[in-house]
Amino acid sequence: MPRTAANPAAPTRTPRTDRPAPYAVEQVRNGRGLVATQRFPRHAVILELRGRIVSAATVWSMWDRDPRRAANCIRFGPESYLDPGERPGAFANHSCEPATALFREGRRLLVVALRAIKPGEELTHDYSTFLGADDVWTMRCNCGEAACRRRIARFDRLPAPTLERYRRLGMIPGFIEATAID
Ligand SMILES: [Zn+2]
Repeated sequence: MPRTAANPAAPTRTPRTDRPAPYAVEQVRNGRGLVATQRFPRHAVILELRGRIVSAATVWSMWDRDPRRAANCIRFGPESYLDPGERPGAFANHSCEPATALFREGRRLLVVALRAIKPGEELTHDYSTFLGADDVWTMRCNCGEAACRRRIARFDRLPAPTLERYRRLGMIPGFIEATAID
């Protein structure tokens, strides 16, 4: 596969088979999820979420014909979303006490360890960090954490101490913060 602007980190040759993927799609508490297959130190970049960059209008039209796929789309900018299709991003589940955070760096969406992660741990992130004030989507949560919020919604509805902590860690992207400013 050639390197292209749309897929900057695509391998230029077949990956070495002696280096297994650092994560796997496995059965977890609520369906399938991404699970670490190795140790990661805090701040490690675990993987890049790849997919098709689509408009907000495209995601809206997707809700009718394929709501599961629409729900898997991740906000990518003021008017765009990343549609992971069947790629790993479709299996990156939410947790109210997440092990990882998403960071957008240029055109890349990276999954970064918020703490040390052991093999077998699920690679969750907090969906609210990428839900703008104009994102109407909400989700019931059954993540099992003591701090579970039960309903997941736009970032500006996060409990104040959680939002403050996330902001301090740089987990709320500028294009998400901007949705709350009129
Ligand atoms: Zn929860």
